Amino acid sequence: MARSLAGSVELTFDDGPDPVWTPAILAALSGSCLHATFFVIARRAAAHPLLIAAMRSGGHAVELHCHEHVRHTDVTRSVIEEDTRRALDTLEALGVRPRRWRIPWGVHAPWTHEIATAHHLELCGWDVDSHDWRGDRVAQMLAAVGPDLHEGARVLLHDGLGPGALRRGCEETVRFTQMIAAEAVAAGGAPASGHGAWGGAEV
Ligand SMILES: [Zn+2]
Repeated sequence: MARSLAGSVELTFDDGPDPVWTPAILAALSGSCLHATFFVIARRAAAHPLLIAAMRSGGHAVELHCHEHVRHTDVTRSVIEEDTRRALDTLEALGVRPRRWRIPWGVHAPWTHEIATAHHLELCGWDVDSHDWRGDRVAQMLAAVGPDLHEGARVLLHDGLGPGALRRGCEETVRFTQMIAAEAVAAGGAPASGHGAWGGAEV
């Protein structure tokens, strides 16, 4: 890659907050210009309200993933209506009013959009999948996502272990975030010339 895009991509983290991995991700982001988005599981948010506060005080966005990690096409519309209401109520009690909604696995049912509209939520997918959830190492992730990156690209990552995770921890996601944060610092917070982590880092 001819230039660093680290300062212009959006790092997005699903399935948290997690008492071990979310603080590590936040630490990796701190000191950089990066503002990430956390699509949280509301049940976990209620269990770890200080982590939600830490996300917000770090300048990051807290948005909706779900209350229970359910695939929309596996259940009825009313189940997801109730799950969404419950999640939004839970988050509101923490002072969070999401505007964006990334649904579990990104799998839409025919009525998903209507529920989003009813709650004034913008459905949000991703442009680049890091495949961190399946246990890829950071070098694999960097090599895989590099060619797909463009300015404004939303990169899918995970700061917690969801039901589909094939790994036992998020160490490699932390390392990935550390590298992107370092790249962003080196780039001065804006796209800059020169090779960087995206060019194929030694890790
Ligand atoms: Zn998820």
